[in-house]
Amino acid sequence: MSLHEDWVRQIDAELDGELTLAERAALARHLAGCPACAGARASHLELRVALARSAGEPHARAVPRPRIRGRMVLLWVALSLLAGAAGGWLAHARWGGPGQGSLEASRAAFVVE
Ligand SMILES: [Zn+2]
Repeated sequence: MSLHEDWVRQIDAELDGELTLAERAALARHLAGCPACAGARASHLELRVALARSAGEPHARAVPRPRIRGRMVLLWVALSLLAGAAGGWLAHARWGGPGQGSLEASRAAFVVE
């Protein structure tokens, strides 16, 4: 873990509005002398702009929360994967595996139940 990684974490915290004034001052001083971290801050900001655009708020002043958003997306992906696996397993148990009846038929059966 390098010192710059610590600063990049501070950059994220700053963009989330979680830093004190003193911490922001220290970060600003480091950025002034460190092109690598200054570049990282720029790309973090651009990432948030892209997130705000995708959220339908291209002119948002507040910073979107990619960490929360990311977790929600992961949660949904995990849930849909689980649901898909469970559905496939149920279908397999009930109808003896794929091939017996179309997907539409399975869907209809689920709706009826
Ligand atoms: Zn740096």
